[in-house]
Amino acid sequence: MNGDSLIMDLKGVGPKTNELFGKLGLKTVEDLLQFYPRDYDRFEAPVSIAQSKVLDFAAVKGMIVTNPMVKRVRNLQIVSMQIRDEMGDTLKVTWFNMTFLAKTMHPGMHYVFRGRIQGYGAGRQMEQPDYYTLAEYEKLLGKMLPVYNLTKGMTSKMIAKAVQQAMGQGKILEDMLEESMRAEYDLMERNEAIANIHFPDRESDLKNARKRLVFEEFYRFLLGVRQMKAQLANQENHFMITEKEEVDELIQRLPYKLTKAQERTLREIQTDMTGPSVMNRLVQGDVGSGKTIVAFLALYQAALCGYQGVLMAPTEVLARQHYQSLCNLIETYGLMLKPALLTGSMTAAQKRKVYEQTASHQVDIVIGTHALIQENVHYQDLGLVITDEQHRFGVRQREALQNKGYLPHVLVMSATPIPRTLAIILYGDLDISVMDELPANRLPIKNCVVDINYRPNAYEFIRKQLKEGRQAYVICPMVEESETLDAEDVVSYSKKLKEEFPSDIQIAYLHGKMNNQEKDRIMEAFGAGKIQVLVSTTVIEVGIDVPNATVIMIENAERFGLAQLHQLRGRVGRGKYQSYCILVHTSSSKESKKRLEILNHSNDGFYIASEDLKLRGPGEFFGVRQSGELAFRLGDIYTDAELLKLASEAAKKTETVSWNIPVNM
Ligand code: ADP
Ligand code: MG
Repeated sequence: MNGDSLIMDLKGVGPKTNELFGKLGLKTVEDLLQFYPRDYDRFEAPVSIAQSKVLDFAAVKGMIVTNPMVKRVRNLQIVSMQIRDEMGDTLKVTWFNMTFLAKTMHPGMHYVFRGRIQGYGAGRQMEQPDYYTLAEYEKLLGKMLPVYNLTKGMTSKMIAKAVQQAMGQGKILEDMLEESMRAEYDLMERNEAIANIHFPDRESDLKNARKRLVFEEFYRFLLGVRQMKAQLANQENHFMITEKEEVDELIQRLPYKLTKAQERTLREIQTDMTGPSVMNRLVQGDVGSGKTIVAFLALYQAALCGYQGVLMAPTEVLARQHYQSLCNLIETYGLMLKPALLTGSMTAAQKRKVYEQTASHQVDIVIGTHALIQENVHYQDLGLVITDEQHRFGVRQREALQNKGYLPHVLVMSATPIPRTLAIILYGDLDISVMDELPANRLPIKNCVVDINYRPNAYEFIRKQLKEGRQAYVICPMVEESETLDAEDVVSYSKKLKEEFPSDIQIAYLHGKMNNQEKDRIMEAFGAGKIQVLVSTTVIEVGIDVPNATVIMIENAERFGLAQLHQLRGRVGRGKYQSYCILVHTSSSKESKKRLEILNHSNDGFYIASEDLKLRGPGEFFGVRQSGELAFRLGDIYTDAELLKLASEAAKKTETVSWNIPVNM
């Protein structure tokens, strides 16, 4: 057995379970082992009944003091009994449909009961607790059991069991880090780290395991960057791209004046495209700085010179939006351009048509998702590839193009504000343009940080904005109601809002688990103003541009990273209207309030990113993660900045970069 073996071949994994693993995107044993826990269930020392708070998950040590009672309520059999702790306080514990407990549990027996406390006063009880003998609990004390992201029908226990099964086969994963390097940077062996991240015995083991795995992620990534640089440095520019006055004419006719930053960036792009070597440039622009039009102008120029161009977006929703904007531009100004859209969810026939059109150069600009560089797509004169909202054009994607014989100009556009020092490490192979200026017609967004008592006022405020014809977003961290997490979810929240708002207000929700057609339909309706309030998860975080939306209300704001909140906030303030961001803070923590205050007082993404880094410091575990744009599994370039530096040092020292390093993005 090795990393490539199939999960299916593990003992105890039947076809059904295997299907569930498939749903989680896990196929091989390596996938499974790299499916790291989202959190840990920590077995803490029991507390007294008086100390346990309502809704808290607690372990209580107690003696059974009443005979178990079985009661039938509708189709449920409820077993309940009283327990008493050492302080003399009592608590009711109940189970559903576990009548056998009435036979096995008797007054005088001692257990540790572990579950959630519900109800107040006389109704206070612990429902469905796990129970352990004192000796059993003693053994578990201090242990951390993994908690995974799940799909319906799957439990963390099932995953843990499969992981254990795989780990029982010995050191099955190869370690790319040489022993000397591990010694130098004090890193665990890979299999050991994997074992410890799934089943840590103590916090320090978890910390060390994580350190090792994050280091490897960064190291791989940075080797990829170096490899790319080696491959691309000074590649000759054989495209005949020249200056075109049609581009300047179009700029003159736009309804707005380009900002200085847009002009400068465009000039840098043009200098690259007409220069001696192939362009390899990153545009870092704060949200709303107007990156899209710069991309369109570059594509237009390439097309005028006879080259095809593609614009690749990370989501279908964003791809469709860009396509629509480009079509509008072409129509409004009568441009001689033929655009096409290509996304994964199109029918085979639709795709085939686009393939034909691209291969025969009937279209000049293709906008889409990753589908743009898949096997069946061929271009005749591909001159420019732009990726939007992705921090980099992954090595694999570039390779995919090169394998087809293309070596186009490459432009990457990102809105993740990264402090300069980090940018140099991460983007060492790219030239960087910074767009640090917002269009002149923008009014700074007005922010506030409030608690839940402010909600009625917020709704009233939103209602007024809607009345003036504007639109609003409400962001919730969760998709559906969760039993274990106390956070707002889009499904229940939109129900609640429908009751709160007059019935003529159209309210809809959006989340990543919906299918693509459904998402498109909702986004289109919102863009067209047919939906006034959009309750959404962070799926709208990147790129979405609906200038008529002026309010964004973010529930459980403390659950998001600052940079992510900044991206979310960037969905408003994109037009001429005054816009507002309402951050609802639902935790009692002063620290998190302080973080939100940074956002409250600044709209500058670069400043926010660097303040965030200062406040959080490296090494915060599984805390709030930053925007998912940098697709590391565990690593976080902000909080793990120190490790990133070490990995960068190590990558520089690595001599041979001749092997292929897959970079997952
Ligand atoms: P981002 O940089 O976040 O991708 P977009 O390119 O989506 O921003 O632009 C945001 C909005 O600003 C769009 O509606 C766009 O039409 C508009 N816009 C772009 N450039 C300017 C400008 N120079 N003046 C005014 N509005 C602009
Ligand atoms: Mg954008």
